[in-house]
Amino acid sequence: MTSDWFDIWQVQDEVYVIEERGHVQSYLVNGSEVSALIDTGTGFGDLRAAVQPLVRDRVMALNTHWHYDHIGGNADFDRVGIHRKEEALLSADVSGAVRFYLEMCGRLGWPLPEGVSPEGFRLRPSAATFVFDHGDRFDLGGRTLEAIHAPGHSPGSTCFLDSLTGALFVGDVVYEGSLYAQFEDADLGQYVATLRMLARRENSFGRIYPGHGPFPLLKGLMGRALELMERVVGGALLGQEVTEPWGPCVLYEWRGLSAYDRLPNSAGLPLIGG
Ligand SMILES: [Zn+2]
Repeated sequence: MTSDWFDIWQVQDEVYVIEERGHVQSYLVNGSEVSALIDTGTGFGDLRAAVQPLVRDRVMALNTHWHYDHIGGNADFDRVGIHRKEEALLSADVSGAVRFYLEMCGRLGWPLPEGVSPEGFRLRPSAATFVFDHGDRFDLGGRTLEAIHAPGHSPGSTCFLDSLTGALFVGDVVYEGSLYAQFEDADLGQYVATLRMLARRENSFGRIYPGHGPFPLLKGLMGRALELMERVVGGALLGQEVTEPWGPCVLYEWRGLSAYDRLPNSAGLPLIGG
């Protein structure tokens, strides 16, 4: 099924990917009673309308983390949950970051829906209607989603484990592409601890679905991401200072994987601000 902006298809038993090509993907998991929408994307298109034919009467949005490309459609849902540590961040002003992202899309030729422009687009404000913690389970009817706190990329980053298929939805914790620890809300030490915890459990998971890039993840990518980040933290790799569109940071590369870190003695690149 394809709407104007979203490509949607079923990847597993009542598990749908909702792709905003070149940007981000959200996931829909249907129980017999409740639908859970894992992230709500950029807000560039009408996500609510796009998923309406597929969802149960009761729908809740679960945010993997507060970054603007994962929460853009929150405003269209009555029930919105996020990890306790990021509840306040959801209402932060990120209009500057969003405008910057849209300008970058224009420069790089990334697709945008008709009518979406840096000048005209406003991310609609959203607020959590509930918060969750590590270990909380959401009963969807016939399956549950378990919240696994996975901080590092951001303080409240959370993965969701589907009891029915073993699928793990990881948001921006790991994906095929440079991992992000250069922003002010990241914590490299926590990132390593999270990857260690997930890599230890990797064989018990089914397919792993990231917020960006190809899905499901290749087997073993979690473990390799851990090896990369351990080398970064341990000082075993020589980083390269680079200036990316969002600012100066350090890029580490190792065996085809890469990660961004903040500059030494820097608080990280800002995400908040108009
Ligand atoms: Zn993201």
